[in-house]
Amino acid sequence: MALLITDECISCGACLPECPNEAIFETRSDAEGKGNHVGDGQGVGDNIYVITHDRCTECVGHFDEPQCAAVCPVDNCCISDPAYPETTDVLLDKAKKLNPDKTIDSAKVWSGVRN
Ligand code: SF4
Repeated sequence: MALLITDECISCGACLPECPNEAIFETRSDAEGKGNHVGDGQGVGDNIYVITHDRCTECVGHFDEPQCAAVCPVDNCCISDPAYPETTDVLLDKAKKLNPDKTIDSAKVWSGVRN
């Protein structure tokens, strides 16, 4: 279902504009204030970026790899969230529902998806 941002985050903001699903927020309170869910223990201190698992598709349907992880300057800061694994089919379906006006390419699938 999602990636998460660890507390290694340096709040550089590189990831936020790269997400094709608008799943990244500057803080936990910002995400939750806009009606999104954030996993337990994420965004502690409310001064690092968070990913809402409601909207993350692991970039399936858009790119071959998670864009947040690709642009993040910190190693292993954007990682698979063990609490929210989803199959490729589920992630593709989510990408379509989140982006009714965009073309979703079923060939764009990250090798790290947990099928
Ligand atoms: Fe957004 Fe892709 Fe990162 Fe998920 S993996 S938060 S969809 S950039």
